[in-house]
Amino acid sequence: MLTGSQIRRKFLDYFVQKGHKEVHSSSLVPQNDPTLLFTNAGMNQFKDVFLGLEKRDYTRATSSQKCVRAGGKHNDLENVGFTNRHHTFFEMLGNFSFGDYFKKDAIAYAWELITSKDWFGIDKDKLYVTIFKGEAGIDRDAEAYDLWVAQGVDKSRIYEMGLKDNFWQMGDTGPCGPCSEIHYDMGPAASDQGHADCAFACDCGRYVEIWNLVFMQFDRDASGKLNPLPKPSIDTGRGRLSPHKQKRTLYQRRAEVMWGQPPRLSVPGKARHKGAPLLVWRRALLPVRPSKARLALPPTNQPHP
Ligand SMILES: [Zn+2]
Repeated sequence: MLTGSQIRRKFLDYFVQKGHKEVHSSSLVPQNDPTLLFTNAGMNQFKDVFLGLEKRDYTRATSSQKCVRAGGKHNDLENVGFTNRHHTFFEMLGNFSFGDYFKKDAIAYAWELITSKDWFGIDKDKLYVTIFKGEAGIDRDAEAYDLWVAQGVDKSRIYEMGLKDNFWQMGDTGPCGPCSEIHYDMGPAASDQGHADCAFACDCGRYVEIWNLVFMQFDRDASGKLNPLPKPSIDTGRGRLSPHKQKRTLYQRRAEVMWGQPPRLSVPGKARHKGAPLLVWRRALLPVRPSKARLALPPTNQPHP
């Protein structure tokens, strides 16, 4: 069984041997971005590179970025403590292309890394992928669909979602594009709602998103028009790992998938404390204690486990 550190290393090694520069995690407090309180994604430190405002001596990068999601657009705060798969503080693994490779390679890399016996060797029968179905005048991502099929993904395992799930944008204007997600079936035991036999994409916790591939393809102007980017880019964020390493690390998503076990936040007894720092922190932030939370909470003054 791989440890969290080994999984992180393997991910970075894969992309390094594909010509990516390994870039260190940036500060949790963004250096040059007043729009963000905390770093919340691997792409933050590359924002100006994606926008063409900054040049670096590489066009492919990979990182394991420490992230906090406690506010802003993409936070899951209201779910933390209530599900066994949402965290506020985690590491996000990612690979990035700045006008270098695009969908074809991004999809091929992701699929090889996840399923190849030489890498993570995850069973294909446990995986589902999604593509953008086309909505609000924006075309369906037929290219991504064909590329997943070309990788050997069974058509019955490719699902098409709308703007909310499968279209990414940095803001009201600027870079945006469709995305493709890879989901893993944790099995009925992972269902928060006791579902014995539900199908993808049931939201009960059984099907967990482990990787999101963002295809930065357009530049949205002030009138809302989508103009093709001259050099489309790739931004991916994969499986998250809580960086509490003092004791046994709390693994989330990716590590759980590697272990073939449901997430650990709901494990009773001592093991529950592996999730405690995040839950305690949530309580400190929220004025109302979620007393009916299904996860029992330790006292707030309890020392960091
Ligand atoms: Zn379900």
